Amino acid sequence: MNNQKTSEIPPQQMSLNTRFKFRCHKGVKCFTDCCRGIDIMLTPYDILTMRRKLDLTSEEFLAVFTEPRILEKADMPVVTLKLLDDERNSCPFVEDKDGCVIYEDRPTTCRYYPIGVGALSYSGEQGDKDEFFFTVKEAHCLGFEEDKEWTVAEWRQDQGIDLRDAVNEGWMDLMVRKKSLPASMKLSEESKKIFFMVCYNIDKFRDFVFNSSFLKRYDIPEDRVADIREDDVKLLQFGFEWLKATLFYAGQENFQAKKS
Ligand code: SF4
Ligand code: SF4
Repeated sequence: MNNQKTSEIPPQQMSLNTRFKFRCHKGVKCFTDCCRGIDIMLTPYDILTMRRKLDLTSEEFLAVFTEPRILEKADMPVVTLKLLDDERNSCPFVEDKDGCVIYEDRPTTCRYYPIGVGALSYSGEQGDKDEFFFTVKEAHCLGFEEDKEWTVAEWRQDQGIDLRDAVNEGWMDLMVRKKSLPASMKLSEESKKIFFMVCYNIDKFRDFVFNSSFLKRYDIPEDRVADIREDDVKLLQFGFEWLKATLFYAGQENFQAKKS
């Protein structure tokens, strides 16, 4: 979790095989301390699962639980979780005694904690992800005093991060591509709005695909259309591909104009 309180212990760079000791449970004195005064960026898949859990449309979820931001380095729209206006700026989903009330559907950032991911850089279509990890050792977090040991890879698997990162990969790719461009190459406000709709407002994007001229303009195979009609995750990943083709001119062969 990206905590606004500054970390008092300098982070140490880790790889997937690095071991660390950590365990979080209801018995720790600091239970739920990390769910207050935080800055949690939500991924597209987080929004998909959280809005389903809360039985809201993506539009309703965005209005009630999020705040729009611009990610400075990439100059791209993101959304963060809106905190309560209480004394400790608590997360709306935390309860003192029981902890996270949406635990099964908690955001990716909460799953990573206490691991952070280092900056990614984009090194071309064939390039590897330049990724590293570190522990976010905040003084109030007593989980590091527990005896359970993990590698970073084991932690990611245990917390369901691998699955989420796989779904969000196309979104991360768009962010990293944009970040790698010179700062002077800006996306238009209209492009940012479209990016926002595809990545964070899945219901609006579905409406755009199926109730506009979209499918008349592009030659999309019928089985793919059937897939994205039924499956929100596939629709989201289709959206990432379309954004990559329209904003960054990559993979345009998947979005050929329909012959009349
Ligand atoms: S041990 Fe760390 S992660 Fe767990 S509740 Fe305490 S502060 Fe949060
Ligand atoms: S979503 Fe759950 S785990 Fe994440 S900050 Fe809120 S209460 Fe804590």
